Amino acid sequence: MILLDGSTLAKKLEKQIQQDVASFAEKSGVTPGLATVQVGNNPASSVYVGKKHQACKKVGIRSERVELDEDVSQEALLGHVLRLNLDPAIHGILVQLPLPKHLDASMIIQSIDPAKDVDGFHLENVGRLYVDGSGLVPCTPQGVMALLGEYDVPIAGKRAVVVGRSLIVGKPVAQLLLSQNATVTIAHSKSENIRALCKEAQILVVAAGQPEMVRHDWVAPGACVVDVGIHRNSSGKIVGDVNFDEVSQIAGFLSPVPGGVGPLTISMLMQNTLKAARGIHVGK
Ligand code: NDP
Repeated sequence: MILLDGSTLAKKLEKQIQQDVASFAEKSGVTPGLATVQVGNNPASSVYVGKKHQACKKVGIRSERVELDEDVSQEALLGHVLRLNLDPAIHGILVQLPLPKHLDASMIIQSIDPAKDVDGFHLENVGRLYVDGSGLVPCTPQGVMALLGEYDVPIAGKRAVVVGRSLIVGKPVAQLLLSQNATVTIAHSKSENIRALCKEAQILVVAAGQPEMVRHDWVAPGACVVDVGIHRNSSGKIVGDVNFDEVSQIAGFLSPVPGGVGPLTISMLMQNTLKAARGIHVGK
């Protein structure tokens, strides 16, 4: 079994992005800038946001951290997003989710300038992904594709099954696989006989949010399995949606958790910020 090592790929990408940021800044005189907006102090969100700023520092992206009180009003939050939309030094804006319940997350996301929407959640970018891939693409799905690409996993013509249909992971991953000519099935919580479906897959991407759901008898011998899930189990261990010990006996390729897709999500955020600064995607 070949381990799909996301940590090593993320380090390699970090060097590449650092060089690309430096050469872009030299040619254009522009340093890419990323702003994060965090509401409240949810510890997990603080950790994720902190990691994003650390990554910016490493690759030479300027970053701004906007921290707002838990009880901030919709209007005040909107005001911050609109200010960042107009700030020429900011090329990427990321509103850390989830937002507190009194805020309309969808409305806030749609208020981000699509050309600065480095999470790829704005409807314009969602639409572009399905039309011609020209917009900003969500980071975790890009990370999945980067991992497959790095290990030369054949995609065209292969049978791919994606478990999960969220807008953040499942649907965009399925679309990216389709755009590389895989034959794609999307499975979800209402799918019948999901184990048999998964067993047909040559590429199986699991983003169900169910700890260690995929067992050895869900996977075809030699299949490529990418585990997007991340959980802490009752004994405090970090696990994915795939039972690693069992599936590693069957699969041809398998991504670990941690150290698989997770580190690549941040690499892709850095890439998206550089892409937004370059303005090479349509919509800028
Ligand atoms: P969501 O909860 O938004 O979506 C989960 C999807 O899985 C839904 O489509 C749901 O189906 C489906 N599902 C749930 N239970 C089952 C089941 N028993 N059988 C089949 N399908 C099922 O999660 P996300 O997409 O946001 O995230 C998925 C996982 O990936 C989580 O563990 C999350 O923590 C992780 N994640 C990791 C990231 C990283 O950087 N590594 C980034 C983002 C997420 P239905 O639509 O029918 O409800």
